[in-house]
Amino acid sequence: MNTHADIDADVHSFLKSKLGHVIGGRVVEAASGKTFSTLNPATGEVLARLAQGDATDVDRAVKAARVAFEGPWSKWTPYERQALLMRVHDLVDKRFEEMALLETLDMGSPITRTRNLKKIALQALAYFATQTMNPSGQLLQNNMAGTVKSMIVKAPLGVVGGILAWNNPLVGQWFLVGGALATGCTVVLKPAELASLSVLYMVNLLHEAGMPEGVVNVVTRYGSVAGAALAGHNDVDRIVFTGSVATGRQIVEASTSNMKRVQVEMGGKSPDIVFADADLDLAVPGAAMAVFNNSGQICTAGTRLFVQRGIHEEFIARLTAFTQTLRVGNGLDPAVQMGPLISQQQLERVMGYVKGAAPEGATLASGGERLGGDLAEGYFIQPTIFSNVTPNMRIAREEIFGPVISVLPFDTEDEALRLANATEYGLGGAVWTRDMSTALRMVDGIKAGSVWVNCYGWMDIGVGMAGYKLSGYGTKGGPGYIDSFLYEKCVYINVT
Ligand code: NAD
Repeated sequence: MNTHADIDADVHSFLKSKLGHVIGGRVVEAASGKTFSTLNPATGEVLARLAQGDATDVDRAVKAARVAFEGPWSKWTPYERQALLMRVHDLVDKRFEEMALLETLDMGSPITRTRNLKKIALQALAYFATQTMNPSGQLLQNNMAGTVKSMIVKAPLGVVGGILAWNNPLVGQWFLVGGALATGCTVVLKPAELASLSVLYMVNLLHEAGMPEGVVNVVTRYGSVAGAALAGHNDVDRIVFTGSVATGRQIVEASTSNMKRVQVEMGGKSPDIVFADADLDLAVPGAAMAVFNNSGQICTAGTRLFVQRGIHEEFIARLTAFTQTLRVGNGLDPAVQMGPLISQQQLERVMGYVKGAAPEGATLASGGERLGGDLAEGYFIQPTIFSNVTPNMRIAREEIFGPVISVLPFDTEDEALRLANATEYGLGGAVWTRDMSTALRMVDGIKAGSVWVNCYGWMDIGVGMAGYKLSGYGTKGGPGYIDSFLYEKCVYINVT
């Protein structure tokens, strides 16, 4: 078992090592020779310099992925790919602490949270290991029986481009890598420029586990250059994108050049609905952490908190009291529950929403300020709650992607559903009640890809998560996910 000193030493030697793109199994510089700095958002310090990718680098990576796809990787049996996934599982099990520490340094999330993601990463790998046999196809009966045998064969699509958001790469990367290793596809990953380190570390583990070179490649830096080049590349068969709606639209448009298959997972403005009969000991911390977890930088954050009028005042008082107990600070401290925002730009964006709320008529119930003192060099703001929010205010309509809750009252179930669904997004939603009939009616009524009852944010890879409306399409995990890495061939065999 590694000690803290071993883990720190490993992470620091990784940060000091030559970090570049990973193409064809080798760490390479950008073709342009350019690099960029990646910062620790808790301190503003430079953590490392990474390769600044452009279209030339993306093209090299796609070529490497194509060569690997057509090469020996295509001969690997499902059993061999399963064994590889289990070796990766075991290495991740041993070295997750290093990945968690890197993620905390790179994107600020508290170490207690990044450590907890181990279970999800390991479950994902174990799940994908069970899926290598699934692309089995079907033998079908048809009206030519006796003369023609018919079957559907499923084949790997080829090169998959994965474009990741910065808010959760430690989990997001496995959906791409696991899907590819399970099906025999290959991957070019473009992590977000603000959080690439855990992805670069992960590729080392894949090679250590025996993955052939070129099966997973990584190109770092700007989305508008490297991401766009990947999305528009004519030798990429599928794009899996996580990010904003504006970029998602561009990805879909770029896909038309070769009709590549696309999965787009985008933002949300999810409703969290608390009925008067709810268990408030559960609902208060649940509703708070549905937003303050990861500093509100969660796609499914329950930022529109609808509270039934009978408990509205009491709920705000308890929510405020709970929120004021939260410890905000550098995520390396295991006592910290909320870290910084990812960047100065994100801080300014979130503060723009906070400062604009009172002039629109909202009441600041808690927080609302940037933190100074020891935290002045980082991008910290207080967890923030607004009451007296109406549905037309900007804080109630737009995705803030920061630690800001808008509380809105409601009277009846019908009103709660009407307000909850009055959004262009459809990613998540939750209901807190002791009455299962109410809960099931809300599950039916909420128009979103994931709905939680008396809990928030759970995700099981075997069940998956999905989007609706502007939150996107394509399931992440769940029964249909593996098929999205495959295409079907309808085969007819003359047996006469
Ligand atoms: P973003 O759209 O700015 O960037 C996402 C990724 O796309 C990054 O890797 C970026 O480099 C790349 N990119 C940027 N411009 C591009 C272009 N023109 N072509 C191709 N790629 C491009 O989003 P963000 O700010 O990094 O992430 C926050 C958003 O992601 C929020 O809206 C959040 O809700 C959403 N998100 C959704 C999910 C989900 O599963 N639905 C999960 C996490 C985050």
